[in-house]
Amino acid sequence: MELRFMLVNGDFKVHAKGCRAISRDLKTSDYEKPGELTADSQREVTLDLWDDILAEEYPEREFSSLTEQELASCASAISYHTCVKDLPDGWDARVTKREAKQLLAHYVLDGALTSVADFLAHDGGIPEDEARRTVSQWLHHLNAGNGEDGKRYFPEGLPRPDRSDWR
Ligand SMILES: [Zn+2]
Repeated sequence: MELRFMLVNGDFKVHAKGCRAISRDLKTSDYEKPGELTADSQREVTLDLWDDILAEEYPEREFSSLTEQELASCASAISYHTCVKDLPDGWDARVTKREAKQLLAHYVLDGALTSVADFLAHDGGIPEDEARRTVSQWLHHLNAGNGEDGKRYFPEGLPRPDRSDWR
């Protein structure tokens, strides 16, 4: 969604592009013309509008490491005109750190499968089943969450580890 924003009395005010109230709000704004922004959720708006400010305030910190309270206080300084009432808030859709790490493990496991294929294509020097078993042993503790079958995800093509912590 294409949006326009401006600072009014220290807070951000967000409108849809083309909203007729923009010119009215500009009169009380510090901005001469509205800022432009494309976002699909209030969360995206928050991250976008606060990115530079927070980078200055917390130069040593990654933006993604901000606490929920810090993000909430950023969000509370943004108001949305009725013209953007359909913009989803997007806060619930946020993945937890645990889910993010499971996704990362998923990529690593699938990457290992590609690596094994490359290794075998170059005749790496050990038999295929030994290569696959070895990689499974290296990677058996990666938790990529559950696959579509409801069991812990492990790529087809690598022998599934049989360990007590997998049950
Ligand atoms: Zn508006």
